[in-house]
Amino acid sequence: MKFQPRASHFIDGEYVEDTNGAAIEVIYPATGEVIARLHSATPAIVEQALNSAKNAQAAWVALSGTERGRILRRASDIMRERNYDLSVLETHDTGKPIQETTVADATSGADALEYFGGLAASLTGEHIPLGGGDFVYTICEALGVCVGIGAWNYPTQIACWKGAPALACGNTMVFKPSETTPLSALKVAEILVEAGAPKGVYNVIQGYGDVGASLVSDPRVAKVSLTGSVPTGRKVYAAAADGMKHVTMELGGKSPMIVFDDADIENAVSGAILGNFYSSGQVCSNGTRVFVQKGIKEAFLKRLSERLAHAKIGDPMDEDVSFGPMVSENQMNIALGYIEKGKAEGARLVYGGERIERDGYFVQPTVFADVTDNMTIAREEIFGPVMSVLDFETEEEVMARANDTEFGLAAGVFTNDLTRAHRIVAGFEAGTCYINTYNLAPVEAPFGGSKMSGVGRENSKLAINHFSEMKTVYVSMNDVEAPY
Ligand code: NAD
Repeated sequence: MKFQPRASHFIDGEYVEDTNGAAIEVIYPATGEVIARLHSATPAIVEQALNSAKNAQAAWVALSGTERGRILRRASDIMRERNYDLSVLETHDTGKPIQETTVADATSGADALEYFGGLAASLTGEHIPLGGGDFVYTICEALGVCVGIGAWNYPTQIACWKGAPALACGNTMVFKPSETTPLSALKVAEILVEAGAPKGVYNVIQGYGDVGASLVSDPRVAKVSLTGSVPTGRKVYAAAADGMKHVTMELGGKSPMIVFDDADIENAVSGAILGNFYSSGQVCSNGTRVFVQKGIKEAFLKRLSERLAHAKIGDPMDEDVSFGPMVSENQMNIALGYIEKGKAEGARLVYGGERIERDGYFVQPTVFADVTDNMTIAREEIFGPVMSVLDFETEEEVMARANDTEFGLAAGVFTNDLTRAHRIVAGFEAGTCYINTYNLAPVEAPFGGSKMSGVGRENSKLAINHFSEMKTVYVSMNDVEAPY
């Protein structure tokens, strides 16, 4: 098989297999064909990976930040050089069009390796002068062994967004990709070793939820960073709490996008397309509740439908194709189920709404209008190409409705009124907000959610705080005063 890796796991600098583990079939979502066969990690593999990460950490953290950073930056260069091959792999793993994977996956992973590689040398504590000559200094220390657990929508990016800051701080990592898209994290591990990372610094093991759970509960693990759904997040957070482990939770969303009458309509339509149909709608921060002010509603829907007719749907390896299949049959059926609920609950179908008759798991880009706040499609995360358009009249009304959700990942506003834009984002209960654009996630900016959408932030300097802790050292320059 063309995409069959040498073995399922990458531990201590080498490919490792244990065929006793449950089978994992990797399916190309555009055709339904099996492109690789792997095995879930057995307890022996989990043990090997955690031991390897534990043993490698002391030497890794003893390197200077400059040396660690150099390795990460070299890995970033290698990823960029191999961008096309990595993108082909990512397209087969996920079904996302090559048009997308060549610009948003390995390149975004490389950005993280470069950015955190650049920061590694400047991760220092501070000197705090006190009265009478005493002072405190702080030391920025690594946490130890970190576990990364990934979702299936951005496998390379997630492997790097977690690995790069962890390694920059002097931690080692065991990463478990999603069982649906297990291939590209192995390439990240290979590349890190090629770039000079010592054996055991970054390990990848495959597996279903039980493997993730066994990693989270292991006492050798100091930190868990999960990208996944809210139900999984709840379980992982609770298991991590038992061992008082650090966590980062990047979970699901049902984010609002508000379009005011005065917005640039082309930009608003572009934002709504990016925020609902990129990666066939399988993006956590998608703005799936599009609130459109009544005055431009019909113009917005008309232009949206015209633009959607230009989506080129088909073979994701065709460079002209801009809309591919969903990741799996299961995910397709979930999306189709929500589409049926939308119809049954009285939303008006404006565009799409059907499975596409061809091999693979294709669902039409779908738009519902006249959606009301209590409809299922307006409340639950669909994680598919289904946009809900809701009407609104006033700013006050839309603000309350936008925030009326358990989620708080992202939120966006389109308006040409400067003060209103800032007022709206100040009112959003969401971790990542956009004004007159949507869904950009540069590595320089913190990314993450509030409310049920998560804990902690990825990317930016803030990610360092989530992969390190400060040690405080009080230094006395005076005699010790004791009461007796
Ligand atoms: P999921 O929650 O089903 O699985 C995520 C990962 O957790 C997988 O690797 C899975 O094997 C593992 N897992 C499952 N049960 C576990 C357990 N008990 N202990 C430890 N690990 C366990 O999510 P998914 O279907 O792979 O991905 C889609 C979800 O991810 C959506 O909700 C989406 O919004 C979210 N997501 C969030 C972000 C973000 O940055 N906020 C990014 C991408 C995806």
